[in-house]
Amino acid sequence: MIFRQFFDKTSSTYTYLLGSRKGGEALLIDPVIENVDFYLKRLQELDLKLLKAVDTHCHADHVTGLGQLRDLTRCITVMGEKTSVDMVSMRVEDGDKIEIEDITLEVLYTPGHTDDSYCFLGSDRIFTGDTLLIRGTGRTDFQNGNPIEAYRSLFGKILTLDDDITVYPGHDYKGETRSTIGEERAFNPRLQVANANEYADMMNALDLPNPKLMDIAVPANQQIGFSANEPDLQSRTLTAKKAHRLFQDNSALFVDLREQSERKKNGIIPNSLHAPYDEMESFIKPGGLLNAISHESPKSLILYCAFGERSALALQMMLDAGFDNAHHMKDGIKAWNNAGLEVDRITND
Ligand code: FE
Repeated sequence: MIFRQFFDKTSSTYTYLLGSRKGGEALLIDPVIENVDFYLKRLQELDLKLLKAVDTHCHADHVTGLGQLRDLTRCITVMGEKTSVDMVSMRVEDGDKIEIEDITLEVLYTPGHTDDSYCFLGSDRIFTGDTLLIRGTGRTDFQNGNPIEAYRSLFGKILTLDDDITVYPGHDYKGETRSTIGEERAFNPRLQVANANEYADMMNALDLPNPKLMDIAVPANQQIGFSANEPDLQSRTLTAKKAHRLFQDNSALFVDLREQSERKKNGIIPNSLHAPYDEMESFIKPGGLLNAISHESPKSLILYCAFGERSALALQMMLDAGFDNAHHMKDGIKAWNNAGLEVDRITND
């Protein structure tokens, strides 16, 4: 595995790059907007294709790089399902997996620092965001933070992991880079408490000033959704209702861009093709599945995903490649499900 830990001096944020191999796929955890060009340079040098950009929670001390990375690389933006961020491409919940080639991270929902805080657990390491820091823990006094919940996340989830799991935090203000679960359990002063109330008393007594960038960062981070402003894209955006009419007329082919785990969770539009977003280039190139279908079938193609972000990006790729029969469904399967329209359930692979 290719692994890098990057540091943002202004906000003392750590950003992590995980890559499968030279020439393979990569994901970034907690990228900072000011450093996006730097990440892209490193990705290029390491010959990695950015597949996913993930935030552990909605940050108050820096503006996330998720939106800009998506606009520049068409990567999939990922956050937890509890996030208030307007639109990300994929939302994960406790127990879900974030996957790229050869790398799997398990999602742990760990509220407390904020109500949308998540940790990501790999085979030998955990990315703890602001839930657990080195000899510290994330503050719990804003963004729906809650010290009782933080205690439960720390003691009920994080500290139940093996001692030798490496801890990679979201920040460090003293220059330390990593720790282990065993070390933190033994020496983290915040974790030497007898119960949740004792932890809450300690956290409530901290009386910290708000982060300098909070009034800028939080609203900016809540609005990173892809804005499909291009007139061409807009005219090819269908509501779920309109898409359903074409479905009933049997005059469109639906193309599902989601991953298998998402399809299992929320169902699929009956008879839709599966063309995972990360392989889009191969589907639309000459000889690719979508390319062949669009030449042979008079039906129009309707792309859909979870929330309408991946489908908009894929539609843009298809328009760039000269397709003239492609559309995408606004707000994805979420809108379809909200309208109570029929879905097929997938039970196995
Ligand atoms: Fe934070």
